[in-house]
Formats: sequence, C-alpha cells, structure tokens
Amino acid sequence: MKVIPRDQHCISRKNISDGALKVMSRLRSQGHQAYLVGGAVRDLLLGGHPKDFDIATDATPEAVHGLFRNSRIIGRRFRIVHVRFGREIIEVTTFRGHHDSGDENSQETGGNHSRQSDKGLLLRDNVYGTLEEDAVRRDLTVNALYYDAGSFEVMDHVDGLHDLQQRLIRVIGDPAQRFREDPVRMLRVLRFAGKLDFAIEKSTANAIPGCAALLREIPAARLFDEFLKLFLSGYAAASLEQLMRHDLLQYLFPETDVLLHRDEHALALSRAAMRNTDQRIAEDKPVTPAFILAALLWPVVVRQARQLEHRGEPPVPALHSAAQQVIGEAVQHVAIPRRFSQPMREIWEFQQRLEKRPGKKAAELVSHRRFRAAYDFLLLREEAGEETGGVGAWWTEYQELSPVERVEQAPEEP
Ligand code: ATP
Ligand code: MG
Repeated sequence: MKVIPRDQHCISRKNISDGALKVMSRLRSQGHQAYLVGGAVRDLLLGGHPKDFDIATDATPEAVHGLFRNSRIIGRRFRIVHVRFGREIIEVTTFRGHHDSGDENSQETGGNHSRQSDKGLLLRDNVYGTLEEDAVRRDLTVNALYYDAGSFEVMDHVDGLHDLQQRLIRVIGDPAQRFREDPVRMLRVLRFAGKLDFAIEKSTANAIPGCAALLREIPAARLFDEFLKLFLSGYAAASLEQLMRHDLLQYLFPETDVLLHRDEHALALSRAAMRNTDQRIAEDKPVTPAFILAALLWPVVVRQARQLEHRGEPPVPALHSAAQQVIGEAVQHVAIPRRFSQPMREIWEFQQRLEKRPGKKAAELVSHRRFRAAYDFLLLREEAGEETGGVGAWWTEYQELSPVERVEQAPEEP
C-alpha cells in the first residue's frame, strides 16, 4: 500500500462537502476508519469538483446508522447507509471483503449478515473486509483511491495514482475475470474512458471482445441504468464513440448499431443528438433521455415504417406500428420506462405533422406540449442531412411571428 502524504497530492479539504467531512470526523472520533473513496477522490485529484461524495469505513452499516440520526440503511444486495444533510446525501459503505466466497478468513472478519442466501453473489458481497480488500474489489485503479481527511493522506493499493497521471483506464486484477464477474464493468471502462478522455490500458481493452457477449445476460433494467450514466452525464458523444469503437453498442441497441455502421445520416443524427444533450447539460439546462432515445431509434423506425408503406399501409399508421414494434424490440435490451418511451413516440409521430405543411393548424401544433422537443428533433434531422424539404426553416420563421401575424401572414408554405 502506497501512502501519499499531503504535500504530494492536490486534494484540499476546501473542495470536500461539509457533510462528507462531518461523517468522516464523526466516524474517526468513534475509533473507526473513514475515507473518501471512488469518483470523488479521482475527480479531486484531477482538479474537478465531484458531484457526490462516497465514504468507505470499517464500521458496519448498523454502527454507522447508530451514529447518525439523519441516516438510513438502504439496499439488500449491498447494504449501504445514506446520511442526509439537507439536499446532500453522503453514501457510506462498509469495506467489503474478498471475492472468493469460500474464503473463511473474510467471513471471520466480521458481521456478514447475508449468509441466508445460497446465491454466490449475495454471499460474498456483504462479507466485510479490510481497506486493502475493499480496494481490490473495486472496478478500476483510478476508482480505488482513498483519502484520509484526518491525516490528509491518499492511500493507494492498486497504483491508481500512476494510472491517473498517465491518464489510463485499467481494470484491477485480471480483466477477463473481472468482466466475467460483472460484465457491466466493460461499459464502465468505456464510460470513464470517454468521460475523462483517458486511454484504455491494453490488457483491459484486449479482454473486452472475448467477454462482450456476457452483456446479453445482464437484466435490461440494469442496462437502462447504465445507459443513463453513459448518455445523460454530459459525455454522451464520447460514450457513443467508445461504444462503437469497442463494438458494445450492439448489446444496448442492436438495430441501431447495424444502421449506424452503414447509414451516415443515422450516425450523424445520433452524434448531433449527443452533442446537443452534452451542450445542454454543460449549460445546466434540463435534458430528457426521451430525446436521445428518439435519435438512436429514429433510423430504425423509419426503416420499419417504409417497409410497412411498401406493403400498402398509409404513412401515419405505418409510423405508428413501426414505433410500436421498435419500442417493443428495444425494451428487451434496455428497459426504457414508459415515461420516456411515450414522449419518444410523440416526438416521432410529431415529425409527420411538422412535415405536413399544416396551414391553419400551425398555431395549434406550436402550443402542443411536445412541440419544442419535436421541433428541435426536426432541426437535428436536417442538420444530419435528412431531406425534409426545408420545413424546419418554415417553423423557425413561423415562431418568430407575433400572434396576429401568425393568423394574417403565415409564411409561404414550403
Ligand atoms: P461517477 O459517480 O462520477 O460516475 P464513480 O466512480 O463514483 O463515478 P459510481 O458508479 O458512483 O462511480 O461507483 C462508486 C464506486 O464504486 C466506483 O468508484 C468504484 O470504486 C465502485 N464500483 C461501482 N460499480 C462497480 C462495479 N460494477 N464493480 C466494481 N466496483 C464498482
Ligand atoms: Mg459516484
């Protein structure tokens, strides 16, 4: 274990939230160890401002809960404690022990309360351990640094600081084994490489192709959670490039993946939507997964709708059935909740109404609650080179008219 003293790293207590400092000092005053860990330490060392603070301790969840009135124990698979300070929630995790569930030592190290289950995962995940054990069960070396706010030291058991300085994403331990234990780690590798703009260390990258297919076993609900982190954290464009480069997009959006590789407009549309979302997040504007999902799946919907039209179905019902089919297929892989798939479908169906040269109906469409997103989407389609007969410009002009002008002199129909 390397110990990096305070004058050899740039972490300052000033950049750590009061809540996190309070939790750590309270735990220490009760004789426990308590460290800042994970993304917060990583981001502090990179000079950034962490969005949340996670703490690792040798105190059991019950002991932590007992120390803080404003806390509760959550989770069944991983029992962690949430300590609340106003709007901030500090997540406190007890050191976890070794991966080998048969390891008697780690069971002795204490307080394992989950042995009622026969399922290997459960058994080992709540076996408590030491700081060293906790470090090696984490996913990436740069995510396994610990900051001691009492001594101001950084504890590094996996050469994470070296990788941070080299800007490298490296899985702790044998990458293939770690990916087999939890295939979602492959997506995490790509996410952090994209977000931090780090390279992926060779043996980590080389293990991905052989393990990739294991992502098929991951429940669609978990893949949706991971989708959100990949595409709604402000780094969607970088995530998409990583997913395509390492050929993992197919496990999230198989149909999209095929089309993005052979249709430049489809690729341009996805990229434009990602840039748009990243930009909005950078400007603190609200974003919705519905918009990015609409872009990722639109080319698939269009292809499907065309096929139905060839078989004689009129455009409106064709798009409607295509949307239905595409959503039905997509949720098998990524469990998109209805509250996002519904607006996504509305954005798609709105496209036909916007393209239809609405004449007197224009005012009604503009005041529709889905107009804004649908109009933005239309502009993205045009930006991506899709042919719409310039109808986007018509709508832009129309919205600039005053209410009276809208009635009297609606712009020429395109
Ligand atoms: P951010 O919150 O900025 O996206 P983070 O590093 O805090 O990044 P989280 O997903 O919040 O990422 O996870 C917190 C920590 O838990 C990680 O830093 C890592 O050490 C550990 N961790 C999370 N998921 C896994 C996993 N699947 N396998 C092993 N360790 C994990
Ligand atoms: Mg985090």
